[in-house]
Amino acid sequence: MEHWPALGCGPMSRLTHPAALLAPLLLLGGTWSCAQPVQRTSAVLEAPVPSPPGTASPMIRIRYWEDRLPVLGRADQSEAHLCLGELYLEVQDAPAARLHFYTARSGEVSLREQAQASFGIGRSYLLQDQPRMAERHLAEAAKNLDGPEGEECDYLLAFAKGGSLPGVDAALVARTAAYTGGAGTTPSTRPNGSTSKGAYASVQRRDWGARAMLANFDPMEKPWRLTVHHTAEPAATYKLDASYREMRDLQRMHQTGNGWADLGYHFLIDQAGRVIEGRPMSAQGAHAGDFDRNRGNIGICLIGNFVAQPDRGDEYALAQSPSREQMVALESLVASLRRDYSIPATQVWGHQDFKGTACPGPFLQGWVERLNPNLQ
Ligand SMILES: [Zn+2]
Repeated sequence: MEHWPALGCGPMSRLTHPAALLAPLLLLGGTWSCAQPVQRTSAVLEAPVPSPPGTASPMIRIRYWEDRLPVLGRADQSEAHLCLGELYLEVQDAPAARLHFYTARSGEVSLREQAQASFGIGRSYLLQDQPRMAERHLAEAAKNLDGPEGEECDYLLAFAKGGSLPGVDAALVARTAAYTGGAGTTPSTRPNGSTSKGAYASVQRRDWGARAMLANFDPMEKPWRLTVHHTAEPAATYKLDASYREMRDLQRMHQTGNGWADLGYHFLIDQAGRVIEGRPMSAQGAHAGDFDRNRGNIGICLIGNFVAQPDRGDEYALAQSPSREQMVALESLVASLRRDYSIPATQVWGHQDFKGTACPGPFLQGWVERLNPNLQ
């Protein structure tokens, strides 16, 4: 049996991560390539930063480009965002890919670059089994893409529409297999797009380097309710590495600091909208209060501080809002869990519905209250 600290879900104070990525950009044209960094003549770019070879792993290239983004000129930034989007698609991190494509598309880029960004956004939705969302962006992209990209876009658009796929060559099928599940050249409808139980998180425990769960947990009964939280720690980064670090920090605090078997929550959602696996669903959570309050209760925690906490210093004085990506991910996760476990809207709660805490903050609590008729 785990024991419970007096205070709510916020872990102890710790350093937060600087926001580096998301300055709005005015974008200019140019060609781009993910294989090699774009060569430019500005003084900044002549700094002796080694370029990763085209054969370097996607994660090394991602780190390279993310580190350089702040010192790039505007035109180079637009290319870097397109490039990062492609790299994140390569590692199948759809939310991060989409963020970069949206950023690239938000300025005065050429029609072709806009189309490339829309193509990327469409593919990111296919990776997440959201063909309807994909369709709109792919249709937009198809107007201004030609060559191999245009062929891929047309093919994936047909796939997203769920009808018969046009007969195409094997190379194209292979290039797009990540987005179609290898649906192939034969007439086909989309395979069952629903998420199977246990596959809610796009980032698994092994990805972020989880330590093993300790023995002092209670088995989870069949889930019949869920509760939304925030970490109560400021967060301002979309970087994957930062989320991994955050997860390890939280687990250490919950296991070592609180004496719990594992992270209190079953799922966390980072600022980029990635759903990250926390405590295994086989174990009852430690997030809503005492034993009875955690029975059958799935804990979902958004990374960020959504409550003003001026007593904790300047860094905490203003409440953040959840990112748009976090809210999209929350909606989708809650919908999937409710469907798979038959959880009614009347059993969707905020932490403050169980005990005296401001968690998860007015924005998220408002979201909960709009969903749960018992709270209206
Ligand atoms: Zn909480």
